[in-house]
Order: sequence, then C-alpha cells, then structure tokens
Amino acid sequence: MPDYPLGLGPKWEELKQNLWPNEDQGVDSDCPNPHCDYMLTDQDMYDAEEFGGHFTCPNCRWTYDLSPYMYQEVRQQTRAGMTPKEMGQLGESVVRDFADENNGIPGLGELRWEAPDYNDPIDAVVGDFAIEIKSLHSESYPRFKIAADPTTGGNRSDVIKQKIDRMNELGMHLGSQLAPGVLGVRLNFFTSRADFFFSSGFKDARMTAMEHLGTSDFSKLNPFKKPEEVSALSLPTQGETYGDEDIPF
Ligand SMILES: [Zn+2]
Repeated sequence: MPDYPLGLGPKWEELKQNLWPNEDQGVDSDCPNPHCDYMLTDQDMYDAEEFGGHFTCPNCRWTYDLSPYMYQEVRQQTRAGMTPKEMGQLGESVVRDFADENNGIPGLGELRWEAPDYNDPIDAVVGDFAIEIKSLHSESYPRFKIAADPTTGGNRSDVIKQKIDRMNELGMHLGSQLAPGVLGVRLNFFTSRADFFFSSGFKDARMTAMEHLGTSDFSKLNPFKKPEEVSALSLPTQGETYGDEDIPF
C-alpha cells in the first residue's frame, strides 16, 4: 500500500510542480480572506453568537458565518468561508468569463447553452459535452465531487440519473448527441488564478487524473479584497447596523 492518501502521491507532486511551483496561498489567519491577517478574539466569537454566527471582519470587512465553529456542526462551508452555493456560483461565473475570453472552452468547444438557474442538473453545454461545473479552493483536497452539494438532497444515483435525463433532453433540444463531463475549477483566492480541468463522465474526479485545459485571471470576480483597498468608512460599523441605542433624536 502507498503511504500517501489517494490522489496525493507522486502524480500530485508532479502536477503541483508543473502548474503551481512555489504557489502563494496568502496569509494564515482566522479570516477566510487570504489577504487578511486578522485573528479572532473571544469577544468576536461572543458577538458573532449574538447574530447567529454572522460576523464581519473588522480588518477587511469580509462577512462570513462562524456558526460551524461555534456549534461544531458539520462544516458545510468551503475553506473560503463561502457556502457551497456561493462557491458554485462563483465557479460558474469564472467559467463563463473564461469561455468569453477564448471563444469557447479550449479543448472542448463553444459554450452552447447555460443553465438558467442554479438548481438545473446540468450547468452548461460546451461542444458536445453536457457539463457539471465544480469549484474548489486551491488549499482543499484536489478532487471534484459530483453531487457533493448537501443542499441538493436525494441519493447519489438519483442525482446522476437526473443529470443523464437532462443531458438527453438538452441533446434533443440542441440537435446533437451529448456526452457527460465534469469541468473542475480550482480557485486561488490570493493570486486570483483559476485553473480549469476536465474529465468525461459524471463521476468524482481527481485533479491528477484530469486534463488541464488552461488558466485565467479572475481578479474581477474575486470577492476577497486587500484590507487596505477597503475603506472602513464606506460601510457602517456593526454597532450602527444593529444597535438601537444611538438613534439621533
Ligand atoms: Zn479579514
């Protein structure tokens, strides 16, 4: 048996060397913003508890949910302090921009159809592929999981069946036979570099077993700003937002 976890062996080391040598992941701190070095205090935890876990970083103004830490629930947030849905929607936007910049997705073809809403079983049709778009943070485990979103419910085979049915429906509608595929987007929030990976089929895919299609710069869509770029005066303080003791009359 190999002494490294599945997907993290020599192939993974080689992929990292090729694509991200000496990659910068930003500052290690309690704040999910990789540009921000803020460390949480006990008072912060206490304040957050009062607002159901909702916390705005006083340094960079990023708002995120601390409740997974407070109540030790299953951690549904991604490492970026975003919900799976927020992360998923960001990934889809990054893919759309990538397709705009390249007149399609390199290696796959033209972007022919996009899902009108987030809950559609298929995210996009690119070339002859019905695509599931999956996003992950550059610091997370390098595997894209199909039907990993806990909000979708239902069991796994039902979720896959829905995708196949939808794929066939879209194929009829577009007048060509479609094949299933996963487009994985790896997002480094510190450098704003996105890497795109592809594998055929609707199944979990390890990054090392996927085809690397290219990279893009997603600075414009990156929600994390450097603290010095965020004017503290442009947003109300938490006291002004929630307090009722300073009504000026
Ligand atoms: Zn912060």
